[in-house]
Amino acid sequence: MTASTLDDLLAEGVSGRTVLVRSDLNVPLSQGVVGDDGRIRASLPVLEKLAAAGAKVLVTAHLGRPKGEPNPEFSLAPVAARMNELSRVTVKRAEDLVGAAAQASAEALEPGEILLLENVRFDPRETSKDDQARSELAGELADLAGTSGAFVNDAFGAVHRKHASVFDIAAKLPAYQGDLVAAELEVLKTLTQSPERPYTVVLGGSKVSDKIAVIENLIPKADSVIIGGGMVFTLAKAIMGYGIGKSLVETDLLTDESVTGLLELAKRHSTKILFPTDMVMASRFAADAEHEVLPLESLESGTHGAEALGLDIGPESAALFAAEIARSKTVFWNGPMGVFEMEAFAKGTEAVARALTESPGFTVVGGGDSAAAVRALGFDESEFGHISTGGGASLEYLEGKNLPGIDALGAA
Ligand code: ADP
Ligand code: MG
Repeated sequence: MTASTLDDLLAEGVSGRTVLVRSDLNVPLSQGVVGDDGRIRASLPVLEKLAAAGAKVLVTAHLGRPKGEPNPEFSLAPVAARMNELSRVTVKRAEDLVGAAAQASAEALEPGEILLLENVRFDPRETSKDDQARSELAGELADLAGTSGAFVNDAFGAVHRKHASVFDIAAKLPAYQGDLVAAELEVLKTLTQSPERPYTVVLGGSKVSDKIAVIENLIPKADSVIIGGGMVFTLAKAIMGYGIGKSLVETDLLTDESVTGLLELAKRHSTKILFPTDMVMASRFAADAEHEVLPLESLESGTHGAEALGLDIGPESAALFAAEIARSKTVFWNGPMGVFEMEAFAKGTEAVARALTESPGFTVVGGGDSAAAVRALGFDESEFGHISTGGGASLEYLEGKNLPGIDALGAA
């Protein structure tokens, strides 16, 4: 079965109908102001399309992890403000997510208007393990849309969650797949089913535990797997037995078979694994820390000995990785190569990003921090084949897992 799409809904006609859209507006905030607004910009086209077709557009979304109760720190108000700066359509805001006040705001909505409901995670039922509780919240959200209502899931970054506004809601209203979700799935299908070769996967970021399943799943599919970021240390210690100083390490994974068996697995599938050959070792975790480049096999041999910690890949590794990316026809990149948030440790991430922009192949950037890094470092988004809005969701897809938000739309 294939899912009904936004175009199907528009063909049915939405004029005067209330359409509830689940968007992914989970953006970083600092001091109440939106930081990287990539997800907002990616979400606006569907909302504007519906508004232009005369729908009353209700938007439900989450921000952060407010623990199931209202918390001003996680209010969507700054997001509504940013949406208004970016869109020609006025975006109104409800103080509540369901209930009488939200109902009144929804009823006051005119065709062509957009109303952003308050953070759906202010309600503990959103993420509840209890099917009944989630279903109840989904019912209340559906009630806001009324009898001629429809639901559009455009929140790609949330489709791996079995949450009320992502999963259960699709049983309460006629449900459709938004354009952003459709576009993301299309790219992921290409990556898993028919990547042009050589196919290189670049994985970084902080935690091996987040990425080990995807590494295992992609080894059989890729021609090369490049490893960078904080993950390097747990792997270098577990696999090569190297000293890593005070670098990030996940001790419980050091003897885990999925880690220790990685090279064996790669060998079985004739997949090349590229580790960094040098790392930037710092005196402490700080933007102005003293730092020096050391070979991977002797990370504790520098000025700060075993007290040093690795915060980026070194220049030799960056060149090695860039060369591998340059000869690839398909590149999937997830996870920064270092602590790119600090300028001194952003060079590895920048080198990999640049290599992707210079690659003639199809390049995909997945992961919230990786996408933010690319924009923060000043790259033009159009230089990449695709920048995904969903970190966890893309990884779970690539791991071969089912995505509840997609399954609920009937797209098997
Ligand atoms: P994504 O969101 O793209 O999937 P992750 O969330 O896995 O990426 O990882 C991003 C984080 O990893 C960044 O905040 C970055 O600072 C951190 N990181 C990268 N390299 C290191 C390192 N060597 N030590 C500590 N943290 C690191
Ligand atoms: Mg992240």
